[in-house]
Amino acid sequence: MDDLNSLVEKYVKKVLFTEEEIQLRVAEISERINEDYTGLEPVIIAVLKGSLYFVSDLTRQLNIPLSLDFMAIESYGPQPSSSGAVKLLKDLDQPIEGRDIIIVEDIIDTGLTLSYLIRNLKARNPRSIRVCTLLDKSVRRLVPIEITYKGFEVPDVFVVGYGLDFEQKFRNLPYIGVLDIDRAVEDFYE
Ligand code: 5GP
Repeated sequence: MDDLNSLVEKYVKKVLFTEEEIQLRVAEISERINEDYTGLEPVIIAVLKGSLYFVSDLTRQLNIPLSLDFMAIESYGPQPSSSGAVKLLKDLDQPIEGRDIIIVEDIIDTGLTLSYLIRNLKARNPRSIRVCTLLDKSVRRLVPIEITYKGFEVPDVFVVGYGLDFEQKFRNLPYIGVLDIDRAVEDFYE
């Protein structure tokens, strides 16, 4: 079996955001959330698994009281593209009625997954819902999404690392890189 370094050499074309760049941006976003939510106690909802490191780094720099909860979803359809049909694999542990929600996402691509999630959460009558995403691939958007906190804009490439995977691999890279998606699909699926 290939070790991570050989997989990176073979499939990661270039580094898009270094560990330092990511950490700086996360600190800036945390500062804004600290200011915006002073005196409040938001529920941070992280969408598993991709937002794992982002939510972990982000929340450790928040100096407001908060609840942390998780949702896990699965998109149907051929990977890695999203069809928008979503299955809920893990729901929240607590009710969110009357609460201020911050959804933390790894990347918003077409927006279909998130628009499903927002609809699902709105039906539970929270006081407010805001979206915080590390990456925004806005060129591919199919449904409009209002993003309050955003890390970086990304072009139409397939990115991995800092939580983002391809076939469960590359998540644990500390930086975000561009995957050679054609080569990876060819080698992994054929
Ligand atoms: P959407 O519903 O916005 O099209 O898709 C969002 C989901 O698709 C993300 O949460 C992520 O799981 C996956 N996704 C979209 N673009 C990328 C990408 O460039 N890299 C990775 N690893 N996943 C992506």
